[in-house]
Amino acid sequence: MSLKLSPADEAFRQEVRDFLATHLTADLRLSGERMTSVYADHEASMAWQAILHAKGWAAPAWPVEHGGAGWSVVQRHIFARERAAAGAPPLSPMGIAMAGPAILRFGTPAQKQFFLPRILSGAHFWCQGYSEPQAGSDLAALQMRAERDGDDFICNGSKIWTTHANVANWMFCLVRTTRGPKPQQGISFLLIDMTTPGIEVLPIVMNSGEWIQNQVFFDDVRVPVANVLGDIDDGWTVAKYLLQFERGGSAYAPDLQIRLDALKRVAPDMPELAAKLADLEIRLEVLDALESEILSAVSNGREIGADASMMKILGTELQQRLTELALEAAGPLARAWQPAAGRAGGPVLDYPGPIGDHISGEPWQAIAPLRYLNERAGSIYAGTNEIQRDIIAKADLRL
Ligand SMILES: Cc1cc2nc3c(=O)[nH]c(=O)nc-3n(C[C@H](O)[C@H](O)[C@H](O)COP(=O)(O)OP(=O)(O)OC[C@H]3O[C@@H](n4cnc5c(N)ncnc54)[C@H](O)[C@@H]3O)c2cc1C
Repeated sequence: MSLKLSPADEAFRQEVRDFLATHLTADLRLSGERMTSVYADHEASMAWQAILHAKGWAAPAWPVEHGGAGWSVVQRHIFARERAAAGAPPLSPMGIAMAGPAILRFGTPAQKQFFLPRILSGAHFWCQGYSEPQAGSDLAALQMRAERDGDDFICNGSKIWTTHANVANWMFCLVRTTRGPKPQQGISFLLIDMTTPGIEVLPIVMNSGEWIQNQVFFDDVRVPVANVLGDIDDGWTVAKYLLQFERGGSAYAPDLQIRLDALKRVAPDMPELAAKLADLEIRLEVLDALESEILSAVSNGREIGADASMMKILGTELQQRLTELALEAAGPLARAWQPAAGRAGGPVLDYPGPIGDHISGEPWQAIAPLRYLNERAGSIYAGTNEIQRDIIAKADLRL
């Protein structure tokens, strides 16, 4: 879909293009092109964040008074497209797109002053401690305890599937502070310094070979009460607010469009495959239109509720479809790049380094095998797509 831009937005797009042309180094571009998961290589993504931060562009949606770019939804859309087209690595969403908006909304002045600048600069790198071994879809069943001891809580329990806990120095975490009549009551939203004694992080290696997820154990971990975000025992309100940003806070379409274009350039000329690619392109146009509408509503202050679930389902289903068609297009060639040929979103254990480069100048790694494996998880994380359908059924269809 092509946007009809106003002269001011055209000028903004040119400014973004000029910036990308001068600041995006060849190494950073390569890390963006060779992403094998939804995350770029950690060091590259942090290096790019530092460059964006110096320009004041690290947080497109944050208000200017807190160091954000304060862009309109159209400007954010333009930036997302240009970033993807230039091959720049995306930033990790856990700080800027998740913890940040929650702190902006629920934080005390002291919390805002302490955390927001550090999120922007990358000094604080965040992970999300929601899921537990017995609490995933049924998140309110969580058991990790936080017992009051003077000005601290003492935390005991475990979080699982915690993306980037191996590199994060802060975690936003749901803990049980009391037991209420309903499981959603008595949960608090705690900001935990990952260097606190008593925290142990163990790897969970994905079927792609990458180490991005972890299980985190808490053994008598002391966390100041001042690190509760929102009200004690009312963390569910903060958690739900934040989930909207996780599920629908950013657009899937710009990256998908770039990857689809790359796939179309290298796909063999087979009528059946061409028809499938055309079908994907039509669905992508629908997603793009929907995302623009929803992000515009967000920028006008509306909470998006079940629309976030719609974006999450469509975005992740199209991501998966794209990788399926990429495998079909690559055929037997896909084997050569699997499982460890790409630049991984996390370190690939026991893997010495990239072995292959491009076929006909095209980055197959970016569109094919490792991403196929990695994006199987898209319909699971951030709340499974079955759960998202339940949310839509209840909220929009009143079922
Ligand atoms: C790659 C990856 C990264 C992740 N990153 C994080 C992270 O950073 N932080 C974090 O806190 N968590 C993270 N998660 C955890 C993720 O949020 C959970 O895996 C997810 O919520 C599902 O929970 P579960 O794994 O316990 O599965 P379960 O809840 O046990 O579900 C199993 C199956 O049953 C279905 N199901 C369950 N209940 C219902 C229902 N009511 N109606 C219909 N179907 C149902 C589910 O859809 C699923 O297919 C990550 C997961 C993955 C795979």
